[in-house]
Amino acid sequence: MSIIRQDIATRDWTIFALERAKRPQDYKQEKKIRNNQAYVEDCPFCKGNEHMTPEQRLVIGDPDWKVRVVPNKFAALTTSKQTSYSVQRHKTGLYLSMDGIGEHEVLIESPVHNQHLATMDQAEMEKVIQAYQQRFSVLSKNENYQLIIIFRNHGSRAGTSLEHPHSQLIATPFVPGYIRNRLQEAQRYFDDMGCCVYCDMIEYEIQANKRIIEQTQDFIAFAPYASVSPYNIMVLPKRHQSCFIQAGDDLQRGLATILKKCLIKLHDALMDPDYNYVIDSAPVDKAGEKHYHWHVEILPRLTTRAGFELGSGMYINTILPEECARILSNTQKS
Ligand SMILES: [Zn+2]
Ligand SMILES: [Zn+2]
Repeated sequence: MSIIRQDIATRDWTIFALERAKRPQDYKQEKKIRNNQAYVEDCPFCKGNEHMTPEQRLVIGDPDWKVRVVPNKFAALTTSKQTSYSVQRHKTGLYLSMDGIGEHEVLIESPVHNQHLATMDQAEMEKVIQAYQQRFSVLSKNENYQLIIIFRNHGSRAGTSLEHPHSQLIATPFVPGYIRNRLQEAQRYFDDMGCCVYCDMIEYEIQANKRIIEQTQDFIAFAPYASVSPYNIMVLPKRHQSCFIQAGDDLQRGLATILKKCLIKLHDALMDPDYNYVIDSAPVDKAGEKHYHWHVEILPRLTTRAGFELGSGMYINTILPEECARILSNTQKS
């Protein structure tokens, strides 16, 4: 019989249909052959091709850059020229629209084309996290931006067309319903229980010790009880912080360490799967809230969302998180 589990933080449900379970090697994906060269002549992100990108907004590494941040050439939103709140709403009959202002940046994680987050060294990974924080901090000063999302798409199933290692940042002039729902559910839990639902989950997961994938002094990575897909991983700082902007230098280094460990495990156990990860944080003006807790959600793209998922907002998973945690925590290669 299937099992249906609830995510205590979002009150979303996941169906676990385990008879469809696969072994890790069964997830091996048909991959387009990746270009295995350190430099590709027509890649705009390769070292030496800097003239192919718009003007950089951040560079780390001198004289040789290690990380660059540039505006996305095909940005979904247009940069606001004003830093004070100025987003206009327009009413057309029944319907509402607003100016499409915001930010859409590309964070080039390495000058080397065939570099890989899972295989780059610790210092390189720390520079990537440092760049996340610096851009998050700068963008958060613009009052027009209500939410800043940092995400990474790895592989074609995760929605990337460019092989060169990169992440993206998008700042939006409103808080989307999906995030608002998460914030409201966390607020409701806090109202009922008087504590942060994510802090409670961390404490419970450490005690239960069934779903932990990695743990360091400052961070924990576990497979969520109601994981929405196989090998879904959640990484949280152990200390309560609602907004990513609150992570200081120590936590930047700590996040680089644990994120890298998780990505190596996925890379080794599932043979370099396509994946997305997202830094899920309270909006900037909610930094300091007691009920929300920033975290990184890693979602390997091993299954496809079909009509049921799109129509219901529920997910069907084929493997329990306890099994994923067992497999990943025993993955010791690299
Ligand atoms: Zn490149
Ligand atoms: Zn918390």
